[in-house]
Amino acid sequence: MAKAKFVYQFGGGVAETSVTSKDILGGKGSGLMEMTKIGLPVPAGFTIGIPACEEYYKAGRKLPKAIVDEVKLALAKLEKTVGKKLGDPADPLLVSVRSGAARSMPGMLETILNLGLNDKSVEGLAAKTGNPRFAYDSYRRFIQMYSTTAMGLSKEPMEEMLSDMKKRLGVKNDTDLKASDLKELCELFKNFYKAKKGQAFPQDPVEQLWGAIDAVFNSWEAEKSVTYRRVEKITDLKGTAVNVVQMVFGNKGDSSGTGVCFTRDPNSGENVFYGDCLINAQGEDVVAGIRTPMKLAELETKLPKAYKQLCQVRKTLEKNFKEMQDLEFTIEDEKLYMLQCRTGKRLPSAAFKIAVDMVSEGLITKAEAISRITPEQIEGVFYPVIDMAAVGPARLKELKLATGIDAVPGAAAGKLVFTAAEAEKRVELGEKVILIRRETSPEDVGGMYAAQGILTATGGKTSHAAVVARGWGKCCIVGCEALDIDEKTRSVKIGTKILREGDEVTLNGTTGEVFAGALPLKKPEQTKEFKTLLSWCDEIRTLKVRTNADTPKDSEIAVSLGAEGIGLCRTEHMFFKDFKNPADSEKRQLAIQEMIIADTVEARKKALAKLLPFQREDFKGIFKAMDGKPVTIRLIDPPLHEFTPKDDAGVKKLSAVTGMSPEKIVLRCEQLHESNPMLGHRGCRLCITYPEILEMQVTAIIEAAVEMDKKGVKVLPEIMIPLTIDRKELKILVDDARKLADAIIKRSGSKVSYLMGTMIEIPRAALLADEIAEVAEFFSCGTNDLTQMTLGLSRDDAGRFLPDYVRSEKEGGKAIFAQDPFVSIDQSGVGQLVKMAIEKGRSTRKNLKVGICGEHGGESRSVKFCHAVGMNYVSCSPYRVPIARLAAAQAVIEDKAAKAAAKPAAKKASASKAKPKAEKKAPVAARKAAAKKAPAKKAPAKKAPAAKKPVVKKAASKAKAKK
Ligand code: PEP
Ligand code: MG
Repeated sequence: MAKAKFVYQFGGGVAETSVTSKDILGGKGSGLMEMTKIGLPVPAGFTIGIPACEEYYKAGRKLPKAIVDEVKLALAKLEKTVGKKLGDPADPLLVSVRSGAARSMPGMLETILNLGLNDKSVEGLAAKTGNPRFAYDSYRRFIQMYSTTAMGLSKEPMEEMLSDMKKRLGVKNDTDLKASDLKELCELFKNFYKAKKGQAFPQDPVEQLWGAIDAVFNSWEAEKSVTYRRVEKITDLKGTAVNVVQMVFGNKGDSSGTGVCFTRDPNSGENVFYGDCLINAQGEDVVAGIRTPMKLAELETKLPKAYKQLCQVRKTLEKNFKEMQDLEFTIEDEKLYMLQCRTGKRLPSAAFKIAVDMVSEGLITKAEAISRITPEQIEGVFYPVIDMAAVGPARLKELKLATGIDAVPGAAAGKLVFTAAEAEKRVELGEKVILIRRETSPEDVGGMYAAQGILTATGGKTSHAAVVARGWGKCCIVGCEALDIDEKTRSVKIGTKILREGDEVTLNGTTGEVFAGALPLKKPEQTKEFKTLLSWCDEIRTLKVRTNADTPKDSEIAVSLGAEGIGLCRTEHMFFKDFKNPADSEKRQLAIQEMIIADTVEARKKALAKLLPFQREDFKGIFKAMDGKPVTIRLIDPPLHEFTPKDDAGVKKLSAVTGMSPEKIVLRCEQLHESNPMLGHRGCRLCITYPEILEMQVTAIIEAAVEMDKKGVKVLPEIMIPLTIDRKELKILVDDARKLADAIIKRSGSKVSYLMGTMIEIPRAALLADEIAEVAEFFSCGTNDLTQMTLGLSRDDAGRFLPDYVRSEKEGGKAIFAQDPFVSIDQSGVGQLVKMAIEKGRSTRKNLKVGICGEHGGESRSVKFCHAVGMNYVSCSPYRVPIARLAAAQAVIEDKAAKAAAKPAAKKASASKAKPKAEKKAPVAARKAAAKKAPAKKAPAKKAPAAKKPVVKKAASKAKAKK
C-alpha cells in the first residue's frame, strides 16, 4: 500500500501535486496550489494537510513521527527552492505559518508571520535589505504574534507597550517609529516574555516552527473556533491545514504594500475590482483596521506596474475558477505576490447579479448559476436584517437578551406587547410592536398580523405561531425558554432583566436572537437578476410550486413570487380575521364561537349561516387572485376548543349574541376541552359528527366558484378533506360534498368542475393509500402532522428537547437526527410513508395528483426529496415559493449530474461485458484471472437494496402524468 502523504509542496512555479481538494489542503492551501499551477506569482511553501490535523489530535495533540519527517523534508526543499535557510544569520528565510480549514472561519484560527527571526537573523535581514527599520518591525511583530498565539500570553500588555512608546515619542502611527525605537520595543517584548514564561524568547527557528504548527492545530479546538462552528452549524469539517509559506514583505517601504480584494464588488455584485490596500504594511494591518486603508484603485497611481499585474491576476483567476474570488496580495519592491484566493463571500442580492452576469459573460452555464444559489441567499433577498454597520458586533453582543428557535428569518424591531388586542390597538395608532406570548392560538391572528414580529416562550418550528408567521413572511422566534412571561403585570423576566409593555426589543429571526432596544434594520431589494435566475429555474424544473395561502392578499403575493396555484388554504384561519374589513373580524369570531357552543343542529346551522357569506367572499377573492390556477381549499381542521372564548369579556359578548347564559357557555367550553386535542375531535372527524359544517364550507366554495366563473374568472377548486384515516370515512364526506356541489353547479347552469381529494397526514392513511385513492382524486401530504404522528413527537412541544437529538456530540447533543424532522423531512421514516402513499395511491388511480403542503414544502432538501419520489407539486408559504422553485430546479440538475456520473461506469461495465474477443486474445492466465474476478464483482450488485431504489424510480416515472 502506498504510504500516506500529509505534506504538499509548491513553489518555483511548480505545484507538487495535482490534489487541490479543499478537504485535504484546506481553502488556503488549495488556492495556493491552484494559483501555482496556473502560473500566478505565489511565494514558495508547503501545506501540511488536514488529515495531519486529525492525526495530531488522535495522537493526543502531537504530530506523529512520519509527519514530522515529511515536514522536515518539505522545509529542506523549500530552502532549496528559495535559496535561503531558516535562521541563517546573514540572509534568513522567513516564513508565515497560517491556518486553513476547508471552509473559511474568519479570524478563528491562528496565523504567525515573520517566523525565523531571532536576535542574529534580524541583523542579517537588516543588512541584506539595507532596511533596519523593516527588519526590527518584522521582529517585533513576530515576537508579539508568537508570544500570544503559540505561547499563550495575552495580547494587551504588548499592545500597551507599543502605544506607550508612541505616546512617549509623540507619534501617531506605527510607521512613525524608527529602527532604533523598534529595536528597543523588541527588547521590551522579550523581557516581558522572560518575566512571564521564566525563560528567554525562543531563538531556534526550527523550535519556533514546531511551536507555530502546534499553535495552528491547537487553534482548531480553541473555544472561539468551537463556538463559531456551532453557531455557523459547521459540522462537516475535520480540522485545519497548516500552510508554511516564504514570507514576502509589504512593509519594506513605499514601493511595497499589501491588500485584500474581491474580483467583483461583493456588496452590489458589479463587475468591478473592489478592495483595500496599504502601502508599507503587512497583511494583518489591513484586516485589523490599524490604519485606514486606501481604495484599490489608488494603487494604480502609486504602484502602476504591480496594479496592472494584479488586474491580470484578477482576470486569470475568474477564468480559472469561474467564480468571484477574494484575494490577498503583497507587493514587495513593486513585485506582486499572491498569498490567497478563495470563493468570495457576497451579499445575497450580489450573489444573483454575479451568477447572472457570469452566464452572460459565457463563464458559466445557467445550470451552474442555479446550482450556486443557496436557500439562505433567497431568504436574504426578502427579509430585513439588522444593520450591522450601524450597530457593530460588540454592541450587539451587549444588547443580547436571549436565544430561541429561529422559526421565520429576518429581523423586526418594536415595542413589546403582551396581547393580540394590544398589538392591534397600538398599530392602529401608528406604533411598531413585537407580540410576545407564551404560545399563540388562532384568536391571536389579528395581533400577529399587526405586529412586526412574534416571540413565544414555547413551541417549535411548526407550532401555530411559526406556521402563521411564515405564511406572512413575518419574523418569528419560538421556544424562547428564557422568557418568564407574566401576562397580568404585562412584563417578562429574562435572566435578571425585566422588560415591560412598551419597552423596545429587536428580534433576529434568522438566528433566534432577542436584543434589547429597537436596532436599525435594512431592507434588501429583489433585483432584476433575482427574477432572471428564478425564471431560469422555471425553465428546467418539473415539479410545480404552489403556495399555502388563506387570503386574497397572500395569494397575490405568492403569485408575484411565482406560485402556480394554492396547495393549501386553511379555512379556519379565516374565522378570526377579516383582512378586507377588519371591523368585521369580531362578527366572524362570534359566529364561529356560536357554532361551536351550539347544542342543537338548528342552532349550529343558524351560526353557520352567518359564517357562510364571509367564507364565500374570501373564496371569491382567492379565486380571483388565482385566476386560471388550481386552488386547494381544506375543510375545517383544528379542534373546536381552539376557537372558544378565553376570558370573561369574550364569554359575555358571546352570551349577548346567542342568548345562552355565561355559565352555560363556560360549561360548554369545558365539555369541549380535550386532553389530547391533536389526536382528538379535529380534521374530518368534525364533519363526520357535524355534517352541517361541511355543508356550509362546500356551499361557500362552490357558490364562490360559480359566481367568479360567471364573471369570467377561470376557477379550478380542489376541495380537500383533512386528517383522513379510512376510505369509508372519506367516501361519506366526498359523497356528501359532491351531492351538494353538483346541485349548486347544476342550478347555476355553469360548467365549473372541481376535484375532491384528501390529505395524507396520518400513517394509516399512507398505509391504506390504495383504497383511499379510489375515492380521492388527489393527495396532499400533510407532513407536519405526518411527522408528528409517525415520530410520536408533538409539533408544538418537541422544540424543547429536539436540539438534543439534532445537535452534534461535540455540541453536547446526541446527533440522532441530522436535521430537525419538522424542518427537513425525515426521509428514512416519514419519507418511506410518503413514497408508499404515492405508489399505492397511483396503483389504484393512475393519474393521482400528489403534492405536499406541510412546512417541508418550502425547505430545499425536502423539495428535492419530493421531486425524487415523483410528486406533482410542493406547496409552501408565499415567501418560500422562490426557495422551492430553486430547489426544484436544482433537483433536476443534480439528477442529470448523477445520471451522467453513472453513465461512464455503466458504459465501462457493459464495455467489459462486450469484450469476448479481447478476452479471447488475452493470455490464458489473464483470462483465468478475469473469470475469477467476474462473479465477485457481480455479487454485490445482486445484493443491492433492491427494495429501496425502485420505489423512487417507479414513483418518478409515474409522475410524468403531471397536471
Ligand atoms: C400538515 O399537517 O402538514 C398540514 C399542512 O396541516 P396543518 O399544519 O394545518 O396541521
Ligand atoms: Mg395537519
